[in-house]
Amino acid sequence: MDSYSSYSRWFALTLVVCLTASPILEARVEPTHGFDVFSQDEEIQLGQQSAAEVVKQMPVLPDSDPVVEYVQGLGAKLAQHAPGYKWPYTFHVVNVKEINAFALPGGPIFVNLGTIQVAENEAQLAGVMAHEISHVVQRHGTRAASKQMAAQLPLAILGGLMGNSTLAKAAELGISFGVGSYFLKNSRQSESEADLLGTDIMYDSGYQPQQMAVFFEKLEKQMGGGTNSLMTQFLSDHPNPGNRAEAVSREVKTLPTRTYLADSREFGEIKARVAGMKPLTSEQVAAMQKQGGTPSGGAAAGDVTPSANLKVFSHNEYAISYPENWQVFGDQSSNVTIAPRNGVSQNAVAYGVMIANYQPEDSGASLDAATHELLVSLRQSNPDLKQIGHDETIRVNGVAGKSVDLIGSSPIKDAQGKPLEERDWVVTVQRKDGTVLYLVFISPDKDFGSMRPTFETMLRTLQVR
Ligand SMILES: [Zn+2]
Repeated sequence: MDSYSSYSRWFALTLVVCLTASPILEARVEPTHGFDVFSQDEEIQLGQQSAAEVVKQMPVLPDSDPVVEYVQGLGAKLAQHAPGYKWPYTFHVVNVKEINAFALPGGPIFVNLGTIQVAENEAQLAGVMAHEISHVVQRHGTRAASKQMAAQLPLAILGGLMGNSTLAKAAELGISFGVGSYFLKNSRQSESEADLLGTDIMYDSGYQPQQMAVFFEKLEKQMGGGTNSLMTQFLSDHPNPGNRAEAVSREVKTLPTRTYLADSREFGEIKARVAGMKPLTSEQVAAMQKQGGTPSGGAAAGDVTPSANLKVFSHNEYAISYPENWQVFGDQSSNVTIAPRNGVSQNAVAYGVMIANYQPEDSGASLDAATHELLVSLRQSNPDLKQIGHDETIRVNGVAGKSVDLIGSSPIKDAQGKPLEERDWVVTVQRKDGTVLYLVFISPDKDFGSMRPTFETMLRTLQVR
């Protein structure tokens, strides 16, 4: 070994030491580039169109909501440190219980309220958001869509698309980024890219990057191989690329040691706020989407449409058929409610039928007298119930009965927080032992007309034993 080469090696070593010590040249993950037929402008346009669809279909909280303001602040802080092209990032909160987050092409990012509810610290929430920002940086959505288009289109057309009518062609091929879009499901390769970029973004913003992996792994552990519907969507859209925590730690080791931010005061306030919020389940959202209604952020409601197919509920004292998509609450030993799952909230029935037995004071009372006694006792427990019209004598499958209409207040509230008017249709039927079986068919008054045929069908199937 001659002296020159030994000098040059010493020089080279010194240079390396200087370079690693220089803050400007710290290692950062470079965004990868892949085949993409969408221009940056098209990508932004595509994302904004898709975001408008999401807002139409999902209960997205208004920007004025304090939770949204907080998430937008955190997002802006993280986006400042996003590498690559400066996409116009926007941040939104979806009032849904499921733990999920997704990014649309070109910048719109949606975080479910449930994610904020389960994040144990600010860094975990920042981790989810930094991860989503990284999917935008990497253009994972449009790269996946481009691959799909390449498979479907002849090369000549594909080449001609560049910067030209790509959006129209994508729409023609059915490629979209709306709710539940296939292109929002990331590959494991995309996931590990988003984890690494997200690690750098978190580090540069002052949040401990390992918390991102802790959060993802916590979800997996809680799933425990089972199917907890609160988490399945998130983990299927963001599949584990394998050893997330180790990959994050390896990336952090390439960066100088630093101290990380503690939770902000705002984070504590927002955590307290979201703990008291009641986001919708994705089932409720799906039901509303099916009805074509725009789900509103706060109101608990959902699909109550009765199926035309009937099922039989057989009780010791009676049998009755009911729409197969409704449920029976209660059993032989108690009063029974048959209602759509979304028709019952906090033990109050908004849609459905309650069935019970009434024992009149005088066991020899006529059906007429027993019915009046029952109505008095119903009104005692619910003073705003009012009878409308007269009670009528009817026959239910050959058995003597009475029918009475009442008006009361529904557990469902209007936009101003006032209870909707409720219609309660009470039917009493004489039993052989002198007691009375009674049914209360319940619906908000405005929907009673559409519910009545189902209620009448149910009543026609009633067999008193
Ligand atoms: Zn992901």
